[in-house]
Amino acid sequence: MLERQTETEHFNLSWQQQLAEAFNSIEDLCHYLHLSPSELPVSSAANKDFSLRVPLSFAASMEKGNPHDPLLRQVLPVNDELLAYPGFSNDPVGDLRAATESSVLHKYQGRVLLINTGSCAINCRYCFRRNFPYADLQLSKQKEDAAVRYIDKDSGISEVILSGGDPLVLNDARLTRLVQHLGRIKHLKRIRIHSRMPVVLPARITDELINTLAQCPAQIILVVHCNHANEINERVIAACKTLKNNGITLFNQSVLLKNVNDTAKQLCELSERLFSHGIIPYYLHLLDKATGTGHFEVSEQDALALMRQVQATLPGYLVPKLVKEVAGMASKQYVFNDTNGYR
Ligand SMILES: *Cc1c(COP(=O)(O)O)cnc(C)c1O
Ligand code: SF4
Repeated sequence: MLERQTETEHFNLSWQQQLAEAFNSIEDLCHYLHLSPSELPVSSAANKDFSLRVPLSFAASMEKGNPHDPLLRQVLPVNDELLAYPGFSNDPVGDLRAATESSVLHKYQGRVLLINTGSCAINCRYCFRRNFPYADLQLSKQKEDAAVRYIDKDSGISEVILSGGDPLVLNDARLTRLVQHLGRIKHLKRIRIHSRMPVVLPARITDELINTLAQCPAQIILVVHCNHANEINERVIAACKTLKNNGITLFNQSVLLKNVNDTAKQLCELSERLFSHGIIPYYLHLLDKATGTGHFEVSEQDALALMRQVQATLPGYLVPKLVKEVAGMASKQYVFNDTNGYR
């Protein structure tokens, strides 16, 4: 790929072409990063379970020659994924089965999650979706229409969250159709999109997408997913600026990951950098205990100690809420060890 094209040429391709040319082999990615696979704990078995996938735009922010790069660690299939950890399972929050049976997850009051695709532009090793059996299924138009009718009929629903997978994997025609249908529902105040695309494949923020979102009568919120300040490159910054300029509110959610972002310094830098580009820190999630991800876990106790330091360093609005998902609860659970914060 890169023999024929310079990176600049690649970043001028359509997002679909960039996605089609994303790294999908350990060897190619290592070669690009000037690393030798034989010196890394890479695992072809882990790769077979859940294959490497990373767009060049994201890989370009990794440090060449650094086997411990925090962005590389998020995407490289490694031997540790094959280890069994107690308490880790294929469906830690009980959503997988629910999501395959119905496209609407109505667990929390006033807001529903609409799952319209199982695929993503990047495969994050720590994701619970790695064990999702129908990763590439796309919601049929019939099921999507049924979901829209469900939302239309329940005036208690004020917010729809488009989730996945990554909802921005859908093409613009498909998204426009959905957003227009949702936009006609009078009681719907907000459409929230949960997507890692602005960070991993910012070319996805096309003019057509912006037009669709800007024209929607409901307020639009985009919750990006960024774990480390290094992920925010100039392409990400430009995409976020366009979104902001078109009235879209930007939040970020991260996952707390061992040896990726588990120092107070990294978390503070992330919040600062997000905010300087118009993105407000929202959630910091404790890892969902999905099979194959145990080596990323940061204990609740360590997480609380980190949050205490972050809280002592940053203004309150730059401190994300530390949360975990507990099956059967009516909301995400704040992780505190007393009623007065992270102390
Ligand atoms: C996380 C989640 C939401 C959104 O929760 P907020 O606290 O509003 O961000 C909604 N529905 C489901 C099923 C979820 O898992
Ligand atoms: S982008 Fe989100 S849903 Fe997709 S693999 Fe990464 S963490 Fe999972």
